[in-house]
Amino acid sequence: MAESSDLQIQKKKVPHLAILPIPLQGHLNAMLQLANLLHSKGFSITVIHTNFNSPNPSNFPNLRFEPIPDGLSDGKRWTEDPIHATHVLNDSCQEPFHDCLSRLISDSPHGPVTCIITDEIFHCTKDVADRLKLPRILLGTTSAFHIATMTTFKLLQQNGLLSISDGEPNTLIPEIPPLRMKDIPDIGTADPEMMERLGAGIDNAMRSALGYIQNTFDGLESTYLVKIRQDIHPMPLFEVGPLYKFSPGSSNSILTQDYSCMAWLDKQVPETVIYISFGSSGSFGKKDVVEIAWGLANSDQPFLWVLRPGSIHGHDSVELPEGFEEKTRERGRIVNWAPQQEVLAHPSVGGFWTHNGWNSTLESICEGVPMLCSPYLWDQKVNARFASHVWKVGIQLENGFNRSEIEWAIRRLMVEIEGKEIRERARDLKENAMRCMEKGGSSYESLESLVDLIMSL
Ligand code: UDP
Repeated sequence: MAESSDLQIQKKKVPHLAILPIPLQGHLNAMLQLANLLHSKGFSITVIHTNFNSPNPSNFPNLRFEPIPDGLSDGKRWTEDPIHATHVLNDSCQEPFHDCLSRLISDSPHGPVTCIITDEIFHCTKDVADRLKLPRILLGTTSAFHIATMTTFKLLQQNGLLSISDGEPNTLIPEIPPLRMKDIPDIGTADPEMMERLGAGIDNAMRSALGYIQNTFDGLESTYLVKIRQDIHPMPLFEVGPLYKFSPGSSNSILTQDYSCMAWLDKQVPETVIYISFGSSGSFGKKDVVEIAWGLANSDQPFLWVLRPGSIHGHDSVELPEGFEEKTRERGRIVNWAPQQEVLAHPSVGGFWTHNGWNSTLESICEGVPMLCSPYLWDQKVNARFASHVWKVGIQLENGFNRSEIEWAIRRLMVEIEGKEIRERARDLKENAMRCMEKGGSSYESLESLVDLIMSL
């Protein structure tokens, strides 16, 4: 029997979105969480992805996947010079992205693509979208305060009022409190000119975008969301975070997550375990790992430590100091990679020693877990400063890795009165996040507005 005309109309109306993530752990997670969330709102989604760090389609039955070549067969480029890798990615993906999208417009059983959502770093997508006359929405994967404070910092620099080499590293920058000179992101690249070109490409791609999505919530950084709306981005801003909470189970882990640590956590006393992970790309000197190991051992706290293969400069395997295993066997667990969101939500976890990547920071906040902060790159330093000095839900380790400082910081966070106060503030922030996600809350309503905008195209 023929389908009713109502049903046919309804079927035709499912809008088809193409999304293009940057193939790095934090960026992929946020984009795939957004993709699943939009699918749950009635959109048909095709993920156009690079071969490098390609997502596993079997984890995402609701999404379709189209691989494109990326010029990044050697993943080392990301760790050696991420700016150069980003440049290569934008150069290499532009034409494959155009060809893939053209096909999805003219010949897709799911109807033509009507809008694309791309990571803001993929600035080459502007040219492609313009050629194909497609509207474009950007996803930013950092915090609003990072965007706002760095915009002010750049302006100060351009007007000759501040230079990165000015003054003491601990000097406060009065225009962007509570940041100090040493909190300004230090982007490792051999080619600063390329960095400028990347910044210019992103600024240009911002100009004609239809909207900007951020993985954050108003209860966390309302002042900076207002500043972005008023002074920085002319387009509509949609704060729809925390995405991983709206869209649970939608992350794409590049490494295999070791779930055996969950059974180990079940056996620990509530809020006693410190979880340690420095993200997907950081690496340390051998000496740092020795200091971290002895700091943990001497703290006497139970710990779950993620030691990624390749996370020690120049060594494929990790060698821990003699005597460490014996001293910590009863109360420590080391894994290559953990199911971090589940770990942070586990009642035994009482602290997170983190590099403050934006996803990790947000996950810690939304599970009410206080942080020990060891940032080293990009926006991490700004995130750590806000965690410790604005929301006051963390303690920052200021002098790299030193065993006695680590031992004392862990005790402050996990057992001292100071740690209890920090934990209470962390719980308040968690509740705040949950309120933003409820009907009538800012993230919920922002998501509805985003859906309305895309539906109207
Ligand atoms: N992650 C994970 N297992 C680990 C460590 C991290 O699944 O053992 C996830 C974590 O939940 C987060 C992402 O990897 O979503 C890391 O993103 P983030 O922005 O914090 O840091 P990046 O890795 O991009 O530096």
